[in-house]
Amino acid sequence: MQTPIRNIGLLILLVIVLPVVIFSVFEIGNMRQNERVIQDIYRNQLDALLFSINQYSDDMMGNFASRIEIGANSNETIASPELEKLISEIPSANSLMMFDGNFEFLSSVPFSYRDSALLSKIQKELYKNEPTLRRLQTYMRSGYRKIETFGETSRDMQWIVFLTHIRDREVINVLNINPELFISRLLDPKIQEITRGKFYITAYYAGDDVPFYASNKQHPDLRTLEKRPFWLLKDYVMGIELEGITIADLARERINRNLILIGLMDIILLFGAWLIYRNITRQLELSQLKNGFVANVSHEIRTPLALISMYIETLEMGRVKEAQKVSEYYKVILNETARLSGIVNRILSFSQIESNKRKYIFGNADLNEIVENAFLTFRYTIENKGFHYSFEPDKSLPEIEADRDAVADAFVNLLDNAMKYSTDNKNIAVRTGLSGSFVFIEVEDQGIGISEKNQKYIFDKFYRVTEENLANRVKGSGLGLSIVKHIMDAHEGKIYLKSSPGSGSLFRLMFPAKNTKQA
Ligand code: ADP
Repeated sequence: MQTPIRNIGLLILLVIVLPVVIFSVFEIGNMRQNERVIQDIYRNQLDALLFSINQYSDDMMGNFASRIEIGANSNETIASPELEKLISEIPSANSLMMFDGNFEFLSSVPFSYRDSALLSKIQKELYKNEPTLRRLQTYMRSGYRKIETFGETSRDMQWIVFLTHIRDREVINVLNINPELFISRLLDPKIQEITRGKFYITAYYAGDDVPFYASNKQHPDLRTLEKRPFWLLKDYVMGIELEGITIADLARERINRNLILIGLMDIILLFGAWLIYRNITRQLELSQLKNGFVANVSHEIRTPLALISMYIETLEMGRVKEAQKVSEYYKVILNETARLSGIVNRILSFSQIESNKRKYIFGNADLNEIVENAFLTFRYTIENKGFHYSFEPDKSLPEIEADRDAVADAFVNLLDNAMKYSTDNKNIAVRTGLSGSFVFIEVEDQGIGISEKNQKYIFDKFYRVTEENLANRVKGSGLGLSIVKHIMDAHEGKIYLKSSPGSGSLFRLMFPAKNTKQA
C-alpha cells in the first residue's frame, strides 16, 4: 500500500507541483525584465500621446494655411479685409507677411504692419533657407503643403513659413505667431480632450524647469514622465505627467499585481494537488480496508459454519448417546447459528446504510426495557463465555423518541465488542442514566482498551485496530461501530468514549431527552 501512495504522491509532485514551482520561479526570476518591458510599453503609449498632439498642431496650422490661401484668392488684392479678419481671429497670430518666389515683399496683414528692419531680417532668413523653401515648392507642386519654422525665435515670436497659390502665383507666407499663446489657447482644448484628466500635459520653454503651461491648472508641479519637442515650435518641449506616480511605479504596481495573482494561483493549485492526493490516499486506504473486510468476514462466516456442520455430523452419526452431551451439542449449534445470523444482520444493516435505504421508525422507547430484552437474547453467550454481567438501570429514566430495534442493535454491537475485546478480566457493566439533557446507555468492559490515536478511527467503516495483532486474534468486520455511529446520528445523539490501552473501555450512547429534542 505504501508504494502506490508514494507513486501517486510522486506523480502529483511531477504533474502539478513541479510545473507550478518552475513557472513561479521563472516568473519571479523574470520580474526585472518584465518590469522593463512594461515600462517600455507605457513609454510607447505616452509617446503616441505626445505624437498625436504634435500631429494635431501641424494639422491646425495646415488648416490656417488653407484658409489664408482661400482668403487671399477671394479678393483682387492679396491683403484683403477678409484676410485681416481671419488673422485677427487666430488668437496667437500677430501678423502675416507675403513674399513672391524671388523673396520680394508682396503684402502684409495687418496692412499697416511694415517694419523695414524686420522685413530685411526676414528676407535674409529666406535667402539663408533657400534650399528648404525649394523643398516646400516641390512638395507644393505635388499637392502637399509642408510647414516650417525659420529664423531666430523668442518667447513671443516664431516665424511659421508655408507656401500658397494665389492666382497662379506661388506666394511665401511668413506667419508670425506667439508660441505660448498658440499652445495655451489653441492647443489646450485638444489636449484636454486627449488626456481626459488621466494624464497631464505641460509645455516648457527650452531650459526652463517650470512649465508655462499645464493642462491641469491646479497642480502644475507634477513629476514629468516623458518630454518631447514640439515639431512646429522651435525651442519648446512638452511633457507628460501622472499625478504622484512615475512609470517605474506604474510598472511595479502591475508586477506586484501579477505576483499576487501568481501567488494566489500557486496556493489554489497546491491546495488542489493536496486535495487530490488526500482523496486518492483515502480511496486507497478504503480499498485496502475493504480487502481486509472480505478476508475477515469470510473467516467469521467459515468458523461457525465449520462448527455447525461438525456438530451436526457427529449427532447425525448417532455416536453421542448421553442426553446431556446431545443437549450441549445443540446449544453449540444454536449459539453458532446466532453468531452467523449476527454477522449476516450486520452486513445487511451496513449495506442498507450505504445505499441510504435504512429507515428508522421512531416511537416512545424505554432504554431500560431495550437493554433488558437485548440481554435476554445474549444471556447464553455471555454466561457461556464466562462473563460477569451487571446492569444498573436508572429507574426514573424518562422515555425517549427512538427506533427501538435500532437502539437494541447499537447496544448489542457494544456488548458484542465488550466480549470480543476482553481477555482475563471478564466483567461487563451496563448502566442507564440521565446526564444533562441526554438519556444514556453505557457499556463498560475491563478489556484491552483503545489507544487515543485509534479512538479517532474506530467509528469509520471497515476500520479495525491492527496493533498487537489484535485484529488477527479477534475476528471482526470493522462494521459494528460504524453502524452504531449511523444509528446515533439518526437519533441526533452522541457517543462518548473513555478508554485507554489495558484499562478497559466505556462506550456511552447519549440520546436527547424528549423535551430537548422537541424544543
Ligand atoms: P469489529 O469489532 O468487527 O472489528 P467494530 O467497528 O465494532 O469492528 O470495531 C472497530 C474496532 O474498534 C475493533 O476492531 C476494535 O479494535 C476496536 N474496539 C471496538 N470496541 C472495543 C472495545 N470494547 N474494547 C477494545 N477495542 C474495541
